[in-house]
Parts: sequence; C-alpha cells; structure tokens
Amino acid sequence: MSGITYDYMEIYLRGLIGESKGMTKELEDFAHENGVPIVQKETGKFLEFMVGMKKPLKILELGTAIGYSSILMYEASKTEPEIKTIERSEEMISLAKKNIERFNLSHKIQILEGDCLDILSELDEEFDLIFMDAGKGHYNHFLPHCLRLLNEDGIIIADNVLFRGMVPSQELVKRRKITIVKRMRTYLEMVNEDESLVTSVIPMGDGIAITRRR
Ligand code: SAH
Ligand code: MG
Repeated sequence: MSGITYDYMEIYLRGLIGESKGMTKELEDFAHENGVPIVQKETGKFLEFMVGMKKPLKILELGTAIGYSSILMYEASKTEPEIKTIERSEEMISLAKKNIERFNLSHKIQILEGDCLDILSELDEEFDLIFMDAGKGHYNHFLPHCLRLLNEDGIIIADNVLFRGMVPSQELVKRRKITIVKRMRTYLEMVNEDESLVTSVIPMGDGIAITRRR
C-alpha cells in the first residue's frame, strides 16, 4: 500500500513498464534487497521522459544513494549531461562510486559529498534540471537555493512529496513523521503559492512535484 494510488493501479502500471535488464536490473535488485529507497519504477520512467524532453546539459541531484537515478537520467538523455549529485552517507557514496564506474560514467557524474544544505549554499552555477530526492523534511529549506541555481527555463522535479499519503491525509500521519510531513506541506504550499512559479503535483510513485518559472 503506497497510500497514494490503488495497489491494482501500481501493479498494472509496473507490469506495463516491465523488467529492467543487465546492470540496471542488478542495481534495482541490490536496492530492494538492501532497503535503499531508489525511485519507483514509474517515477524512473517519468524521469526518463522529462530528461528526454528537457534535454538538459547540466543536472543537479539531491540524494545519490547507490547512483541509480543519476545513471538512469544520464542514460535516458542524448545530451551527455554533466551531473552533480549530493550525498552525505559514506556507505552510499562508496557504493555509488563503484556503480558509476561500472557504467563508465565517472567523467560525467560527480558526487558532491556532504549535507545538501551545506553543499547547496556553496554551489554557484546554473542547472537545467534539479532532481530533489533527499532530506524530505528539508525541501522547504532547499527550495530557495534550488531556485537560485535553476536556469531561467529550468525545472525542479521533487520526489516523495506525498510521502506514503501522509502529506494529504492527517489520518495516515505517523507520530514520528509529523515534522517531515508539516515541512513537506510547506514545500508544496511554497511552490504552489509563489506567483512566479508553475507547479504540477502528480500522485504517482510516492508523489512527484514538477516546478518551473512562469
Ligand atoms: N535518488 C536516489 C535515491 C536517493 S535516497 C535514486 O532514486 O536512485 C535518499 C538519499 O539521500 C539517501 O542515500 C540519504 O543518505 C541521502 N540524504 C538524506 N538526507 C540528506 C541530506 N540532508 N544531505 C545529503 N544526503 C542526504
Ligand atoms: Mg525518492
């Protein structure tokens, strides 16, 4: 139960997407066996589509984990984008480095080691696409930095914005998740209420919000 869409819907949509192959399948299996929260299959497909449409030259990702979504975005693009991805867990960083090497992408995907907020504050360059997928309780704090780092016609894709249904439904909120949920609501309000932005929230996977400037 995702708390977002119906189980039969998810099962059907994932069935349509089908099984991955080769090294990609190995990464997915590793993530599932080890409880690493990589993007869900339909979210991955959505990312592939957006990258194909946006044709970014520079991508910033928050939350590398094992490198799965970075590799997926690179492989889905025909623009050979330069990807910077932020991760603070040493264990994840070392796994991601190995995976990125296996895909021969070490020259294209750079891991910025540290906390998102620290790294974001130091960054000073523009990106065409920013994928927010780390620190759910801080998207509201990441947003001003991401807008500063976003190209005039860039897009921000934020994952997990409905967080197992807890963001829209007070009944589903687990006690120890209250702070994260409140802050995620703040994020969604910020991107929806800001007149200079256009945002679409999609109840797919764990909830995705796409944002661009008007
Ligand atoms: N984007 C990845 C999954 C990322 S999971 C994929 O789909 O393949 C989220 C990752 O963010 C975890 O590895 C976690 O260690 C990292 N993380 C969480 N909060 C963070 C923070 N504040 N700064 C840096 N990394 C963070
Ligand atoms: Mg996610």
